[in-house]
Amino acid sequence: MADRLKGHPWKVTSVGDEIDSNCPRCKEETIHRVVAMVEGKVHKVICTRCNSQHRYRPSLAAMRKKVVLPTERQARVLQKIASARDSRTLKPLKEWQDLKERVGEVKPLHYDPSASYSENQAVSHPNFGLGFVRQLIDSSKMEVVFEHEVKILVMNRAKSE
Ligand SMILES: [Zn+2]
Repeated sequence: MADRLKGHPWKVTSVGDEIDSNCPRCKEETIHRVVAMVEGKVHKVICTRCNSQHRYRPSLAAMRKKVVLPTERQARVLQKIASARDSRTLKPLKEWQDLKERVGEVKPLHYDPSASYSENQAVSHPNFGLGFVRQLIDSSKMEVVFEHEVKILVMNRAKSE
């Protein structure tokens, strides 16, 4: 039984099988014997070297093999997130569209941290594009709705001469 399973520790399916596992006491990969299964997966093992019983920790080789699939999937997910962040593929914020309609085709002011703004003012920002002032937070900060994100921007900043 154990021979068949060599190199495929995650395919072990029954109590009594031998399996490579990281032993917390030996602090290395040792041969273990399966003592308990939960839902078809190895749950508890006993180290054949030190006889300590502990939860199954897959051998490093097995973990590396196992990790391949989720990592590829993760990479795809991350790629999706990255492309979704790309403003060319991301849908504009609903609020931004509404504001754009409400405020109309006014010429936006170029964003300048030392200038002062009022609510619903259209602002054009070098990085975020066209935005609308949602609200003034205090005399030096305002919340601006851009096409893809809401930002807090500085205003009324004293000009350094
Ligand atoms: Zn051990």
